[in-house]
This record gives sequence, C-alpha cells and structure tokens, in this order.
Amino acid sequence: MTFLDPWRYKYADRANALVASEIRALFATASNPDIISLAGGMPHLAGMPFAQMADVLRDVMIENGEEMWQYGSAQGNPELRKLILQITEIEGTTADPDNVVITSGSQQALDYITRIFINPGDVIIAEAPNYVGALGVFRSYQADVQNAQMDENGLIPEKLEVQLKKLDQIGKRVKFLYTVPNFHNPAGVTMSVERRKQVLDICKKYEILLVEDNPYGLLSFDGTIHPSIYSLDYDASLGYAPNVVYMGSFSKIIAPGFRVGWMIVPDGIKEKAVLSSESAILCPSNASQMTLIAYLKNFDWKEQIREFRSVYKERHAAMVDAINEYLPYCTYNDPTGGFYIWLKVPDDINTKSIQEECLNAGVSFVPGRGFYATGEGDEYMRLSFCFPTPEHIREGIKRLASVIDKKVK
Ligand code: PMP
Repeated sequence: MTFLDPWRYKYADRANALVASEIRALFATASNPDIISLAGGMPHLAGMPFAQMADVLRDVMIENGEEMWQYGSAQGNPELRKLILQITEIEGTTADPDNVVITSGSQQALDYITRIFINPGDVIIAEAPNYVGALGVFRSYQADVQNAQMDENGLIPEKLEVQLKKLDQIGKRVKFLYTVPNFHNPAGVTMSVERRKQVLDICKKYEILLVEDNPYGLLSFDGTIHPSIYSLDYDASLGYAPNVVYMGSFSKIIAPGFRVGWMIVPDGIKEKAVLSSESAILCPSNASQMTLIAYLKNFDWKEQIREFRSVYKERHAAMVDAINEYLPYCTYNDPTGGFYIWLKVPDDINTKSIQEECLNAGVSFVPGRGFYATGEGDEYMRLSFCFPTPEHIREGIKRLASVIDKKVK
C-alpha cells in the first residue's frame, strides 16, 4: 500500500525539493552478502589502528572529559583548526587559523555556503556530472543549477566563459561555481594546473565565488599532489584567498564516522559561516574534534594516508583490468586517484533500466542519471573501487558484463 503523508500539503517548497538520491536507494543492497556493491563510496577502514585509538581516546576522556562532552565553539576547536592547516599545507593551502570553520563533514560546509549565498532561482554553475550530495543541497535551496562541461582534464575554461557571458546577457545572477578539481566524484577526472589558473581568472573576471571541494586531493595513487585552486588565489596579507571557499574533510583520509570537515573562507563569509553553525547545530562535536586532535598528535597520519593510497591503487588496478577484460566496448577516463570510475556503456543501453537485472545477477552500481541536475546521463554508471576487495571487484565486473553483454548488439 502506498503511504500518503497527510502533512504533504503543508510542506515548504524546500522540503518538496528533498528527494532520495540514486545512492540512498541502493543503501539497502550494501548489506546483502549476495550482492557485490560497486555503488557506495564507503572508504576502506579495515586498516585503521582502532585498538590504539581506543587507548588514546580513553586517556583524553579521563584527562579532559568535561571539555570533551561539553558544548564548544561554533567555529570549531582552535587547536584542530591549526592542525587542519598542517594537512592542507601539503597541497599549498595555507590560511590564518581564524579563517577555518569546522563543520560536520564537508557536506555541512556545502550546506552553509548554499544557505549563505542562494535565494531561490539563483544560479550555481557545477560540473556535470556532479556530486549527488551537492546536487541535493543545491536543490533544497531551490538553486538553478547550470551544467559546466568537463573533459579528461576537468572543467573546460573556454566553455565556462561562453556560458557566463550568455547568463550575463540574459540577466541571470550567478552566485558561485562549484568544482571538485581532484579525482572528481563521479567523473574521476582531475583539473589540469593550467586550467585551475584559467578557471580562477574567469571567476574573478565575472565576480563569481569559486567553491573548491577537495575531499580526495591527498589520495592520488602515486602520491602526486596537485596545488589547490585556493593556493593560486591566496593572499598572505589577508590570511585567506579572497575569491575562493575551500572545503576539506577527514572522511576519506581518516574516517567518515567523525563527521568532521572544514571550510576555509574569506573574512566576511567566515562571520556568516559561524552564524550558520550556531543556528544549525550550536557547535560541532567536541568529542569528535578532541579525538581527532589526539589521533593527529599520536599517530603517523601521513603513513596512514600512504597506506590508504596503496589500497586504493590496488583496487583501482583490479577494476581497470577487469573492465578491459570483460567490458572492452565500454569507455572511461582512467582516474589517477580517488574512488570512482565513470563508465560509459554503449549508447543504446540505459543504465537505469538494467539496474534491476544487475542486482539479480549480484552486483550494484549507481546509474548515471542521478548525477545530473537535468536528467541526462543514462549511458553512464558510477563504479566505486574503494570498498570491495580486488577479488570482489573482479567478480562484480564479471557479473556486470554478464548482463551488459546480452544487450550489446
Ligand atoms: N564532497 C564530495 C565530492 C564527496 O564525494 C563527499 C562524500 N562522498 C563529500 C563532499 C561529503 O563528505 P563528508 O561530509 O563525509 O566530508
């Protein structure tokens, strides 16, 4: 029986814009042992030093329990804000610690920036395909999301400029450009350094804020680090980059369960971000932040990141080998880091319509259409190699091929 919510007529427009993503719909399959999930982007946590972390946590709780379980600052713990800058420094992102705001994952940073800037109908330019979690936030604030085009080197500056000119001519208010420059979710591509500079210059020319979301930047397979766009705009006399909001997270380099991320913001936006934090959650969790401080001080987090890299490198290689062997007629841009392969199947196959059959064959993926604001993407699927073992990845691709093979003419 279909449930009809008696309150549905009273919902705000923004609540009507809240719809389950393609990924949420697949969560149920993740716990089914008969299905190999190439769908979710869950980080690999098996190698974490949990027993040692428990000892450290115990010490922190005994020594600083009252602070740990008390309310804290809306902007976030000052010591953690400094430690975060030691991490971001690896890719050239420096700032005055006072320009760092701690959030509940970078997902909340996305929420704050959208809440601060977007009135219904305002334009956000975002790469297409786009991170589903960002699309969800943008939709909930009733933004008009316009697709920016990408190729194997990321967002295309020339096309961006043409698009901005057109929007300007028809009087559209573009508020910000949202980009994931490293190991894009879901497209897998990385923006070239040359393009980073060009994209920044275009945003400055058109007076558009650039929102740089970088959860995967330290997770290249070979250890290559790309300079953040933020670093190209950084002004030491200010202590921040005046045209860029940078977002980062502990989710992929330590663990998502902490729900701690951050944003690095210009002065004025900082005030609004802190007020957003106060109104949304009063303050981020002291317990999470203090555990992270203890972790960063007591463990070799750089070595942990190196280990993550080598796990993902091996899993990526397993997926690429399996695709080349079992799905040779499918194409993709081979990622150099991150969690995802954005696979293009032959044009006459619709990935949404084969999803059920694939689940019955024991494999899940995310159909491409959920990654677009405008309903295209049916010839794509997102495959994640972060969580399953290399053996499962191989078997998963084999199962996928058993369904797709039958559809290829
Ligand atoms: N941005 C991107 C591009 C992501 O892929 C994710 C998570 N998958 C997030 C932001 C949010 O991550 P978190 O809130 O865990 O920091």
